Amino acid sequence: MTKKITKILIANRGEIALRVIQTAKEMGIKTVTLYTDEEVTLPHSHAGDESFNLGSGPLKDTYLNQDKIIDIAKKLGADAIHPGYGFLSEKSSFAKKVRDAGIKFIGPAPEAIDMMGDKKTSKIKIQELGVPSIPGYHGDNQEIEFLVKEAKKIGLPVLIKASAGGGGKGMRIVYEESEFQSALEGAKREALNAFGDDTVLLEKYITSPRHIEIQVMSDQHGNHFHLFERECSIQRRYQKIVEESPSPAVSPELRAKMTAAAIKITSGINYEGAGTIELILDTDGSFYFLEMNTRLQVEHPVTEMVTGLDLVRLQIIVAQGDKLPFSQADVKQRGHAIEVRLYAEDPDNSFLPSIGTIKKIGKTTVRDTRLDCGYVDGNAVTISFDPMLAKLISWGETREIAAQKLNLALNDVLFLGLKTNRDYLKRILTLPEFHEGKTYTHFVKTYEEKLQKRQPTKEQIAMAVAAFLLKKDSGTNNNSGTHSGSKTNSIWESLSGFRNV
Ligand code: ADP
Ligand code: ADP
Ligand code: MG
Repeated sequence: MTKKITKILIANRGEIALRVIQTAKEMGIKTVTLYTDEEVTLPHSHAGDESFNLGSGPLKDTYLNQDKIIDIAKKLGADAIHPGYGFLSEKSSFAKKVRDAGIKFIGPAPEAIDMMGDKKTSKIKIQELGVPSIPGYHGDNQEIEFLVKEAKKIGLPVLIKASAGGGGKGMRIVYEESEFQSALEGAKREALNAFGDDTVLLEKYITSPRHIEIQVMSDQHGNHFHLFERECSIQRRYQKIVEESPSPAVSPELRAKMTAAAIKITSGINYEGAGTIELILDTDGSFYFLEMNTRLQVEHPVTEMVTGLDLVRLQIIVAQGDKLPFSQADVKQRGHAIEVRLYAEDPDNSFLPSIGTIKKIGKTTVRDTRLDCGYVDGNAVTISFDPMLAKLISWGETREIAAQKLNLALNDVLFLGLKTNRDYLKRILTLPEFHEGKTYTHFVKTYEEKLQKRQPTKEQIAMAVAAFLLKKDSGTNNNSGTHSGSKTNSIWESLSGFRNV
């Protein structure tokens, strides 16, 4: 039954809360946002029509407090809840409670989350549907002796994975049998901490894969669409940092096979809403189901830029019970889009998160570029939340043009006052191997040395100083007028060629 949504409570924070507000406004829908005491000055705390202070304390008392969030929605008359990504987005218990309260959950039915949100159960279902999944053990027996036997059967190396996992947490590679016990303990400990569930599964470790995923979108009328692929192979700690569409590794034939497998899954489970079918592509062209994310994905903007569709709008249309207003043939992949995730972290120190106050965020005027950012000047970045600062996405007619625009935009989007991975991302985008499309999931490890920050040599510093002084003398290095050449008088900017490549 179709019923227009009038007010959405956004059970999330940061950039994704702002992203949902944008589309809601365009659709004439009111929004309610949530924030904690320490987020009072963050933009999402006051960007909606109404906002509610969750107080302070651990996440279970704030963004993960299901009953409290549903009470707020009821009190403020919200007729729908958008869960964003992370937090409660893949908690079927939450989706069910929302539905039971007579509120629309902007996402799939709790039954679908139950089936697909868990890696173990989803693999069993996938096998039934005849889509290949990575060889491994996905059963209930969690005894160590048994798991070791299974690992040997699969053949080392194997990957131990938390069944409830997400964000790369609870994963360990085992190369030698002797490492199995400590790896299992580590994975279980991490899984229990992060997800409150230490069930694991075993998978054959594919040594040179690519991560390719298919964006899917289904309505409540049995229409199942795909919005093509994204390649997200460039990762650190099993977490994506660069995402693009189309994938440089996917031919039209392979694309047809992958998208057909995705539709087989969504139609096979009668899915509704937005989702992502993650696949692992092996070097011989075979691909396997990895997991399904039953929500909007961090990297959805690249799909929006190549298809011209607004994924949040489509989610809302589906939640209202309306039909998706297009046919599969209407959905086209146009040009190329690349996203980078800007993190408050130190790539030169094992990507450890960094904290601090953002003095200033740089703006960019590079064409066809989008910055999805949850912060403004003066905001503090703390350890309470994910260290992702923003996503920067550029579109171009070709992959080369998109990469070039994104690299230019990264020059502008500085987060002054914080240690970020910006220069590291620039080094990725300018690496010849990136341009050659050698984007395997071990990219960061394989090119570790080439991606390292390079200190300028004494000769390079001397040359830069000389060039700088010469420019200054000839008066060509001032900032007046509209000339868009050198933007700064800093000697460091003249050296940036050495620092950034
Ligand atoms: P994506 O493919 O969209 O990056 P991820 O699995 O990396 O998906 O998760 C997206 C975000 O949600 C990350 O910031 C991650 O830390 C967070 N996240 C993922 N799973 C969970 C979970 N079960 N509980 C809390 N946060 C999660
Ligand atoms: P998460 O829920 O944390 O996103 P995934 O199962 O999607 O977990 O895996 C995250 C990443 O880990 C993948 O994108 C891939 O790089 C790597 N990975 C996962 N499974 C395998 C595997 N069996 N072999 C090799 N790499 C894998
Ligand atoms: Mg994943």
